[in-house]
Parts: sequence; C-alpha cells; structure tokens
Amino acid sequence: MANGQLSRAEALAFSGYRHACHVMLYSDTKSLLFGRTPIKHVILMQMRFDGLLGFPGGFVNQSQESLEAGLCRELQEELGVALSISEDDHVDARHAPRTAPCSPRLITHFYVKKLTEEQIKEVEQASASTARDHGQEVLGMVRVPLYTTKNGGGLSSFLSHAFIGNARTQLLDSLLRLRLLAPEDLHKALKHSMKTHAHSAGDLQAALALTAAKRDQS
Ligand code: AMP
Ligand code: MN
Repeated sequence: MANGQLSRAEALAFSGYRHACHVMLYSDTKSLLFGRTPIKHVILMQMRFDGLLGFPGGFVNQSQESLEAGLCRELQEELGVALSISEDDHVDARHAPRTAPCSPRLITHFYVKKLTEEQIKEVEQASASTARDHGQEVLGMVRVPLYTTKNGGGLSSFLSHAFIGNARTQLLDSLLRLRLLAPEDLHKALKHSMKTHAHSAGDLQAALALTAAKRDQS
C-alpha cells in the first residue's frame, strides 16, 4: 500500500509492536438541519478523555484476541453495544509516531463500517447510558457536521479542533474514498479551517495574557 499505509497482513508481520484498532461508524440520513440543510451522513467520533477528538476503539491484547475481537471488546466498553467488525472492514494500518524514545512501538489499524441510521442512534443512546467508559475514557460521542453554514461554519470549524494521532487524516481520507463529500467542498472547508485556526490562536493568546495578569495580581 502507498504513503506509509500497511495492509492488515503487512502490519501483522511486524514483531514486537503493539496494535490498536479504531473504527469509523457511519450511516446515510435524510434528515435536515433547521428543516432545510441536508445532513446527508451521520459519522460518529468521540471526545476522548485527553480532550482530543478520535474514533472509538483502542489497544488489542494480541496474545489473547484477534484485531477484530479486540476492537469489538473496546467498542463494547466505549459504546455499550456489541457490533460485529470483520477483516473486510479493515481499511489500512500505519506506524504511529513514537511519543517518547522508550515508548512501545505501535501500529494503528483503521476500520470503516456502515450502519443504518437506526443502529447509529442505538449506539449513541447506549454510549451515553450503559457504556462502561462513559464519562471517563469517553466524554461523549459527537457527529461530524458535513455541511457548511452561511457564515462558513460546520465542517470547517469541526476540522479546526485537535485530533488524536492521525484521526483527522483518517476522517478526510474516508470522506473522499467513500464519496461522502466532494473534493472541492472539502478543500473549501479546509481553507476556512485554517482561518478559524488562526482566529483560535489569537483568542488563546488573549486568554493567556488575561490569566497572566490575574495570576500576577494574586
Ligand atoms: P486508545 O486506547 O483509544 O487511546 O488508543 C490506543 C492508542 O492509539 C493510543 O496510544 C492513542 O494515542 C492511539 N490512537 C488513538 N486513535 C488514534 C488514531 N486515530 N490515529 C492514530 N493513533 C491513535
Ligand atoms: Mn479508545
């Protein structure tokens, strides 16, 4: 596979690595925002314990379970539902950059699974009620807005948030590969994201100055 992507088999041939699996669950929808803007697709991501956006999933115990069994166990813990994810749902795998020289080497696997809108709603309900990790490892499930509002918000604002690992790339690749969004619309949204990002940096700078002044007063 190209661009540092590994197939499932290539990834499993590496020894001495830990493996983590994450999945993008999505559906089509006919629902409209404010009764007029087509939502088109529901894509589930989550706000993680570390404040970053990511896909549900996690580490696999390779001595005890297959990649897919490990992923399904993580989904049971994080979403509170039993989903069947198979080898056919595997998209690609990549070496994760090491966070510290002594940290274990990690390969992250990405899966995509299409559900019905009804199943997506069941996942959302279970994840906020029966899921073991709710309020701890997972702060909440979120839907990805694919539309653009009049003032340029929607997808562009969503993409300007902070993501874990290569979750943003996984999302963008999936939008294009599954044709959930036209490349020109994605390009426009990303251009606007850069502006939002610059604005956020300015905002943070002002907040920093304000808290520094308060700290020095106390
Ligand atoms: P988790 O248990 O979900 O935090 O995932 C296990 C490991 O995978 C952690 O080290 C994360 O930093 C990493 N990780 C989680 N999501 C992604 C992602 N989308 N891309 C790359 N690495 C990820
Ligand atoms: Mn996780």
